[in-house]
Parts: sequence; structure tokens; C-alpha cells
Amino acid sequence: TVSHDQDHALRERAKTVLPGGMYGHMSMRRMPDGFPQFMARGKGSRLWDTDGNEYIDFMCGWGPIVLGRQDPIVEAAAAKQMAEGDCLNGPGPIMVELAELLCDTIPHADWAMMAKNGTDATTACVTTARAATGRRKILIAGGAYHGAIPWCTPLTGGVIAEDRAHLDYFEYNDIESLRKAVDAAGDDLAGIIISPVRQELARTQEPATREFAQECRTLCTKTGAVLILDDVRCGFRIDLAGSWNSLGVQPDLAAWSKAIANGYALSAVTGRESLREATQTMYVTGSFWYSTVAMAAAVATITQLRETDALGRMRAAGEQWRAGLLTLAASHGLTVEHSGPVQMPLLQFQGDVDSKLAFTWANEAVKRGVYVHPIHNGFVSAAHTPADVDEALDRIDGAFATVAASI
Ligand code: PMP
Repeated sequence: TVSHDQDHALRERAKTVLPGGMYGHMSMRRMPDGFPQFMARGKGSRLWDTDGNEYIDFMCGWGPIVLGRQDPIVEAAAAKQMAEGDCLNGPGPIMVELAELLCDTIPHADWAMMAKNGTDATTACVTTARAATGRRKILIAGGAYHGAIPWCTPLTGGVIAEDRAHLDYFEYNDIESLRKAVDAAGDDLAGIIISPVRQELARTQEPATREFAQECRTLCTKTGAVLILDDVRCGFRIDLAGSWNSLGVQPDLAAWSKAIANGYALSAVTGRESLREATQTMYVTGSFWYSTVAMAAAVATITQLRETDALGRMRAAGEQWRAGLLTLAASHGLTVEHSGPVQMPLLQFQGDVDSKLAFTWANEAVKRGVYVHPIHNGFVSAAHTPADVDEALDRIDGAFATVAASI
């Protein structure tokens, strides 16, 4: 049986000093009791909680882990830089190297700016679009997640209407609703921000259609608005040239984070030449935004993604995971949907009102040493070997059995 004694002791202490015992998306308060709140360490495709329970991990730190935890090359690059100093009075030479690497890797990128969180990057994109166009309106897909500050947070505590002024919403993959929003914004349209895949909680994960992605591009080009691709979640997992590259669409600006440095805190904005000057009218900075260690980790991460078949391995692991889960579900007589790019999938059970079955499944999986989330898309890394995926499938079989027995 799985023990959670250490975790429960930590939760007790946390109740006193962390609001709610924990907050934000890493709060396990609303999760079933199989989920540990605190984690001790990770290696490759595995992680361990504070009670020593081992998990084959299909969340990858909610996306940042792309090469596997404690990747030796990334860790060596970070340690080497750390020995020289992380927080200096100016950026290290590594910042130029990283910007050059991003500009060389990403077709639309003529320049790059660095920050820490995805939210920093999406916000800087929106500000750049307004600075460059002198216009106000930003169009957003309803239900899309672009970060955790007032203009975009999904929860509304402390948010005032003015924080959302000049934002308008359209329906993802719905060309008509997009055209209507563009028309309504008129000559005040600064930009459209959109993620490559519709990735909402407990909802079929829906990649953009080619027609829709191209319409975003066409409308921005026609109106002089800025197309912002929020590649924070998908970036560096599907296509290094940007997650809409295969659809023939390059944005004007893109926001990157998560997988950019294999777990080190870094985000980036990349942009076209035409937007370079506008950034000089903005105050884009932060005390920790020039941390050399994260940039060294990013250079090592992106270099490996470019020079090895990491993306191919990740896709293969994702395909194996999908095929295996579908087979297991069918063997238990369960009808499921496993949607989204295979590298970032979500499993849903047919007719699963309030995600009850999904919560049971995820809880039983976690108890058996496979870390999955019930309603948020998961993530696969390049460190997930065929043997890891097979082992995870063996472990998770009983979770399907429990779900089947509960119906
Ligand atoms: N955009 C997207 C598409 C995201 O998935 C996220 C993070 N889940 C963000 C923006 C915000 O990134 P961060 O949490 O690093 O601020």
C-alpha cells in the first residue's frame, strides 16, 4: 500500500503558512487523495514524492520537462554557468548566444526578448502589438489560457472590468466568429492572440484547422494587426519552427516558455523585424529576467532538440501511449477519447458527467505509480522510452478496471 505520511505532515504545516495549504494550478486540494501535494525529486521519465513513491510521469512539470528530468547535458551546462554566477549586473554573453539560436531556429524570429514566465511573454506580446500599431483591441479565443494576471486569468477574484478593456473574444476554429470580431474591432485592432491547439480543461483537445490558422494570418495581414502565437505550451514539442509551421502559418510575434530550458525558469518573445522598434518604447524587464543559468540551460536544451531526434522520440512515445491506452480502455469495455497532439494528450471517458470517471481513473493511476491529470492535458518527454511506456501501461491497467467496475 502507498503511504502518504510525509505528504500529510507537510500539508498540515503548509496549512498555516501557504494560503489554502497550496494555491494555483499545483494545489491538490480539489484532487482525490491519491495525489501527493509535494514532490521530492525527479530523474528521466520518473519522479518521487516525499514518501518515496515512484511515478512514471505524464505531466512533465506541466510542460517544462521535454528532455527528461535531470538531463545530464542541460544540468552540466547549467552547473558550469552557475559556477560563474547567475545574477550579474548585466546579462551574460549567453543571452546573445540564446537570442541567436532562437532567431536561427524560428523562421519568423528576427529578434528575441527574454523573461521568466509564460505570462510575461504573452503580456509582452500584447503590449508590443499595441505599441507597434497604436491601436487598442486584442482578440482572444474564448476559454483560452494565456496566463495568470488580470487581463487573462481564468479566475476573476480581484479582477476589475477595466483590466479587460479592449479585449474581445471569438470561438476557436470558427472562422465566422473570428471575422465578426475583427470587423467589430475595426481600425482599432492591434492583434489576435491564439494558441496552436485548443487545450481547455476537460474538453476535447482540438488542434487548429489549416483553414482557421491561415485565416488568422490573412486577417492580420489585411488589417495591419499583429498575429501573436502563444506557443508557451506547445512550443519545442511539436515543431521547432513553431507549432503552426506545418499549417503554413508564421506569426508576427510568438510567446515561448515551458519546454524552452527543460525546467529552468525562462520565457521568450520572438518577433519580426517590423516590430523591433516598438519594443524600444516599452519597459520590458525584471530582476531575474537575465539569470544566466536558465539561459545556459535553454541553449543546451534547444541545441539537443535540434541535433538529436528528441522530437521524434517524444512523438513515438506519445503514439505508443495513445495506442496502449486505447487498447486497455477497449479491453475493459470502456469507450474513451484520447485527443490532442500525442505529445500533449487528454483522455476522456464517454458520457463522463463532471469528469467523475476521469478523476477515478487518474487517482487509481497515481496510486499505481503513473502520474496523469484527470482534466488537464498531459505531457510526454523525449526521455520516455518504449520500456517506460510499456511499464506505465502495465501499471495503469488496474485503473481502467476500477473505472469499468464503477459504472
Ligand atoms: N499560455 C499558455 C498556452 C499556457 O499553457 C501557459 C501556462 N500553462 C501560459 C500561457 C502561462 O505561462 P506561465 O504559467 O509560465 O505564466
